Amino acid sequence: MRIDAHMHINFRNISTQNIIDYLNKHRYDCCWLMTWEDAAPEKWNIQNLPIENVYNTFLRHPTRIIPMYAPDPQCDDAPGKLLQWCSRGVRGGAELKTTVNWRSVKLKRLLDAVLKVKIPVVFHMENRPEVLENLKTDTRLEVVLLKILQSGRLKGIPKRVLEMAVEVYAPLERWKKQRTLFPGYKLDFASLRVVLKEYPMVKFIGHGPLFWQHISADGGKNACIQQQGIIRKEGLTCSFLRNYPNLYADISAPSGFHALNRDHAFSRRFLSEFSNKLLFGTDNYPLGHEDLLKSLGLGPKIMRRLMGTNAEQLLMQ
Ligand SMILES: [Zn+2]
Repeated sequence: MRIDAHMHINFRNISTQNIIDYLNKHRYDCCWLMTWEDAAPEKWNIQNLPIENVYNTFLRHPTRIIPMYAPDPQCDDAPGKLLQWCSRGVRGGAELKTTVNWRSVKLKRLLDAVLKVKIPVVFHMENRPEVLENLKTDTRLEVVLLKILQSGRLKGIPKRVLEMAVEVYAPLERWKKQRTLFPGYKLDFASLRVVLKEYPMVKFIGHGPLFWQHISADGGKNACIQQQGIIRKEGLTCSFLRNYPNLYADISAPSGFHALNRDHAFSRRFLSEFSNKLLFGTDNYPLGHEDLLKSLGLGPKIMRRLMGTNAEQLLMQ
């Protein structure tokens, strides 16, 4: 089977018909179709891609669409919503694109539900710089305090020390949170490690700029998405894939494409070593992910795994 394991409906102007035309044109048997759900999208000014649209597309083309859904873990009924949609045919917890950290109790409640229905989870990692802004009601003192936190230094006290002070002093943490514009999708590697160990039976599929920038030990220093240059030392992404049997990855989106396009000799080794853990996908970006894989001369056996067998096997459990 040939599968695009990361797609969305109504994202980057792709309609139901566009998806079917795309699958036909490239001879893909089917695609994984995923939601984005944030309980308060207006807060961060982000787009939601609701399960209803994914599910309707699936009902119209049940042999071409594999429906997936990741409820916002911040909703109280997130585990119940997931179980309910799985009983209607949803096959994956995707795309988990949340500002909630892996260590959060709410996220763990959702993972407990995932365990029950035995589905893979696709997660998005993205670190954006924390942007803070004063509220209109802030006093002069609060304006000064925010300036100190933003600038990172107070009479020689480094930023990390200030941040630690904020972390341990709960009211100040709450105060800061109220003034944070967008915290990023902060599913960092340290807490990812904890959850991979804690949920060995859940198959996690990583993706996104923060995940892929760590293919190299330089952490994508030159740019997190459009990273370039020879990889001199492998990064966390590689050691995590090697050390955790329940971690997989999809190569979709510009982040996956550029991570593999920067150093073809490295990519050939990387894709060969993890040929049973990586999934082809595009995330609606026509960058030529498949052409890139073809150009690396990986051989038919590895190509078949990347282009569909791995995705197929992840759904058979
Ligand atoms: Zn996506």
